[in-house]
This record gives sequence, C-alpha cells and structure tokens, in this order.
Amino acid sequence: MKVRCPSCGYIAYSLPPTHKCPKCANFSHDWLVYDWESFALIRRRHIRYNLLIIGVVLINSSAAIVLRSTDARQWLFNLLLIPAMISLFRCRKQLRGKSEYEGHKGRDIRPWFIHFGGL
Ligand SMILES: [Zn+2]
Repeated sequence: MKVRCPSCGYIAYSLPPTHKCPKCANFSHDWLVYDWESFALIRRRHIRYNLLIIGVVLINSSAAIVLRSTDARQWLFNLLLIPAMISLFRCRKQLRGKSEYEGHKGRDIRPWFIHFGGL
C-alpha cells in the first residue's frame, strides 16, 4: 500500500516507521493512503449505500403521503435524503476525478451515516 506525504506530496511504498517524511522531513500522523483502486472501490460501495437509502426514503415518503401519516418519525426519516444525495454526488464526482486524486484519509473509507450516528 502506497502512502502520500500530506505536506509535500512525496509518495512512499510504505508508511515510514517514524512517520517522518524522507523528503521534506515533516512529521505527520495524517499520511494519506495513496491507492486509487481501493478508493474507487470504496466510493462505488458508498454510491450503492446511498442509492439504497434514497430508494427506501422514496418508498417511505410515498407511503407517508398515501397513508396521510401523522407519525413525525416517518417524516423525519425523509431528511436522510439530503445527506444521501450530497454523498452520492460527491462520490460520483470523486470517481470521475482520478487525475485529481491525491490520496485519501483513513476516515474516508467509512460512509457518512457512520459519522451521522456519532460512531
Ligand atoms: Zn513530505
């Protein structure tokens, strides 16, 4: 797995044991993972999650409308459409931007609803 120095962009084949960049001598705990293939795979998986959430929200909102639901939770659930749409467009944009890829952070592998849940 390749890693990329967040300060100077130096690409190493493995994380330096001291976290010190051999090129710019910077210490960093935020070395980026530099692996487009796995990043693209993660982003595609997140797109599938987002499409699933959007689908469930659409079914739920039509059911709420048809049944004239007065359950606030059922309506609140529809708000998940917003982060799901934002994430979907972001993932798609990132997948198209291979040439702009400069590595990703470890937390980028988790989908938004994990952070959303406060985990
Ligand atoms: Zn560096």
